[in-house]
Amino acid sequence: MYNQDKIVIAIDGYSSCGKSTLARELAKELHYVFIDSGAMYRGITLFAIQNNHIHNNDLDRGAIIRNLNKAELSFKLNSESKKPEIFLNGVNVESIIRTPKVAAYVSRVATIKEVREKLVREQRKMGTNGGIVMDGRDIGSVVFPKAELKLFVTADISERVKRRFSELKENGIETNEEEVKANLLERDRIDSTRIESPLIQVDDAVVIDNTKLTKNEQLQLAISLVERKLGTLA
Ligand code: C5P
Repeated sequence: MYNQDKIVIAIDGYSSCGKSTLARELAKELHYVFIDSGAMYRGITLFAIQNNHIHNNDLDRGAIIRNLNKAELSFKLNSESKKPEIFLNGVNVESIIRTPKVAAYVSRVATIKEVREKLVREQRKMGTNGGIVMDGRDIGSVVFPKAELKLFVTADISERVKRRFSELKENGIETNEEEVKANLLERDRIDSTRIESPLIQVDDAVVIDNTKLTKNEQLQLAISLVERKLGTLA
């Protein structure tokens, strides 16, 4: 059991379902730590690209594994936006990890057992004392199987494409809806069919379909689930 005052909240689901937004807002509300585990897989993918372990659509898995110990990831709170940002070997890579180039390879990098072992180890360390909201694909199933609250977030594909497209556009990244949709579906396929900790909906997860919910409605729903859970633990 984790510390009952500060529980562990695991949020999983397909790509671009609004998991990170929910996790971040929930953590803010509860004064918990928020960890976007997808950013960590993106960070390792960026490291692989920068070190030429990915060329012409080919992943040099051996080289990625050999050099993994040279990729150091950390999170720091941006004092202005109050959002945590990810650093790779001391460099802020929060924006660059969101580019289509990284998105195109991240799910393949995330199938590598050694990558997952390294990141799961780091993620578990962050959650040792509870008081954490982490979102990803294997948080309730593998990283924190004993998390007190597990959410599985889903939304219609057209809504997910719309949201992702406008997010990329806001960040000045050139793309189109077809490209975004193809990338989301491909990542969903790889994530749910891989051998190493595939994306699954665990039995004890509460499903939130946010297709028709505003961000605030979703947040209020999650808060009520947390309160209910804390009530049962008291
Ligand atoms: O959450 P986000 O879409 O940024 O994650 C990027 C990719 O990282 C996912 O498509 C998935 O392949 C991988 N990932 C994972 N396990 C996690 C989080 C992300 O395999 N816990």
